[in-house]
Amino acid sequence: MGLAEIESRVAAATSRAGRRREDVRLIAVSKVQPLDRVESVLEAGHRLFGENRVQEAAGKWPALRERFGDIELHLIGPLQTNKARQAFGLFQAIHSLDRDKLATTCARLADETGACPELFIQVNTGEEPQKAGIAASEVDGFVERVRKLGLPLVGLMCIPPVGEDSAPHFGLLAALAARNGLSGLSMGMSGDFEAAIAAGATHIRVGSAIFGERVPT
Ligand SMILES: *Cc1c(COP(=O)(O)O)cnc(C)c1O
Repeated sequence: MGLAEIESRVAAATSRAGRRREDVRLIAVSKVQPLDRVESVLEAGHRLFGENRVQEAAGKWPALRERFGDIELHLIGPLQTNKARQAFGLFQAIHSLDRDKLATTCARLADETGACPELFIQVNTGEEPQKAGIAASEVDGFVERVRKLGLPLVGLMCIPPVGEDSAPHFGLLAALAARNGLSGLSMGMSGDFEAAIAAGATHIRVGSAIFGERVPT
């Protein structure tokens, strides 16, 4: 696989779904990938990346931004409140808003810095106890509270349970977003991004299919 093949599969999937290519953003998930693989995707011209840990991103991206210029970075993993300030300095979007305390911290930082990354609420559509995200039944109330804080909420995000058909989870996320007037849908990874595009994804998060298997650290 690789970037070019994934790009062409994304184009085919959007066209099958009767959607425009520019309505789906491809986030290249570069967590724990060796630097040379990340550099080749940058050299191919890609400029939108996802990382799941603040610390790892902070160690990697400032130097790459120096070399390659403007790069858009999205945080797709859990965020501790004590890392939020650092995250604000690195990321243009955060896909893992999942609790009131973090929302309050974001609002305070937004006030203080005059800017805030775009926010997605993570929903635990499979109700898996070990997984981050709020329950589907709590989405409406949480959306309302996040909006009251004046935060730039753009959509919802989910990670379907491993080994299950993703389509029902994508459908549920799309319904929750529509009901709350949210246009952003962060869903779909290497194994299921085409199904996510069919279900309305606006942001797909693809790692191993672009970069190759992650090398264990
Ligand atoms: C690692 C990760 C991905 C990418 O996974 P692949 O299966 O390698 O495409 C997407 N989303 C999140 C939240 C991740 O942590």
